[in-house]
Amino acid sequence: MRIELVNTGTELVLGDTINTNAAWLGQRLAGLGVTVARQTIVPDGIAVREAMEEALKRADVVLVTGGLGPTNDDLSRDTVADLLALPMTQDESIVAGLHAYFEKRGKALSPSNLRQAMVPQGAEVMDNPFGTAPGLYLSAELGAVMGFHCHVFLLPGPPRELKPMMETHVEPRLREWLSLSGSWTMRYLKITGVGESDIVEKIEKDLEAIQALDFGYCIGKGDVDVRIAGAPEIVEQGCALVRARLGYAIVSEDRKIIEEVVVSKLLELGQTVATAESCTGGFIAHRITNVSGASAVFGHGFVTYANEAKVAHVGVPEDLLAEYGAVSEPVARAMSEGCLRVSGADHALAVTGIAGPTGGSEDKPVGTVFIALASKDGETVVQKRYSPGTRDRFKLLTSQAALDLLRRRLVGAE
Ligand code: AMP
Ligand code: MG
Repeated sequence: MRIELVNTGTELVLGDTINTNAAWLGQRLAGLGVTVARQTIVPDGIAVREAMEEALKRADVVLVTGGLGPTNDDLSRDTVADLLALPMTQDESIVAGLHAYFEKRGKALSPSNLRQAMVPQGAEVMDNPFGTAPGLYLSAELGAVMGFHCHVFLLPGPPRELKPMMETHVEPRLREWLSLSGSWTMRYLKITGVGESDIVEKIEKDLEAIQALDFGYCIGKGDVDVRIAGAPEIVEQGCALVRARLGYAIVSEDRKIIEEVVVSKLLELGQTVATAESCTGGFIAHRITNVSGASAVFGHGFVTYANEAKVAHVGVPEDLLAEYGAVSEPVARAMSEGCLRVSGADHALAVTGIAGPTGGSEDKPVGTVFIALASKDGETVVQKRYSPGTRDRFKLLTSQAALDLLRRRLVGAE
């Protein structure tokens, strides 16, 4: 089933309003197992007609957003009526609804509001409990005379009006049509610690060889989603291939991000983690505590930015700092083991590095970082990494690698 979106509104092309409706609708439709085939954004005016006409020719279902208001730049109703050659008639139930809406608010109904009661003949009204503009559904048969075979939904622009209408009036219909057209599913495998090009090398050729499998990549913040879609058994075949090739680099198969996976794994094991952070300034703790339920697994996060703080709070020996410098393997190790001791947690993550842009040297350039993980049961491991770039990016990638070090230990992937 081919679905297209037409998002109308001059404010959208001006950039005054961000087209959040398209993103939200795309996600909802993906949840139903269908990808939007095309999305068009047009300013109010003649472009609305052009976009609707083109979409009607190509698609099985068109969702139009915006342009249902009472002003003369709200063109969606008239435009669709014109394209399908349907006369406009006044819908008495809408008139009654408008009267009730305005009476409740102690306001008078203006003639321009009555424009919203005009509907193309044969269209079905979708009520809007959160505004004055009802939505409209025009079934595919209505356009047959004009050579169109496409269901059209006109939805209000304001997201708080559009969302409930989509859920109550549009999705049930789509679900029914989709169930008639065969099953389709989509999965996301989230990968971390492997670069996009390496992922491609490992899986692309063999995924391409699977008949009728649709797949793609989406680069996230420190991770990559591999998206696999098609008939359920084909999708399972694709997922199995990715699992075989990427194994423990797969963080989740349900779109959970790494901190969510780490927190839920700790909860499951009844274990806790503490952090001692230098160059990330608390960002690892921030990410962990973004997850609801984190309090059960996280009690202590130290930001030990200065050398004195590393000594005072997590017991790093002064002579280690003097001998190796703060950004070193022995200091990272001492931070994590000290953090474990002081906090009493089951695991402790520590990071020390040079975020830059200043402070680098020849043997420790900007971007150098040591990440350590100490655990009550298990050897302390220290990883040396090099992530040059902006401070933000450095913090992101370092926190990602640290969380991944812990995740791998928790899932037995070391
Ligand atoms: P309309 O129904 O076209 O009069 O739109 C009413 C209001 O809804 C606009 O002023 C925007 O603030 C908002 N809106 C319209 N279209 C969108 C969209 N695609 N995404 C987010 N907000 C929108
Ligand atoms: Mg508008």
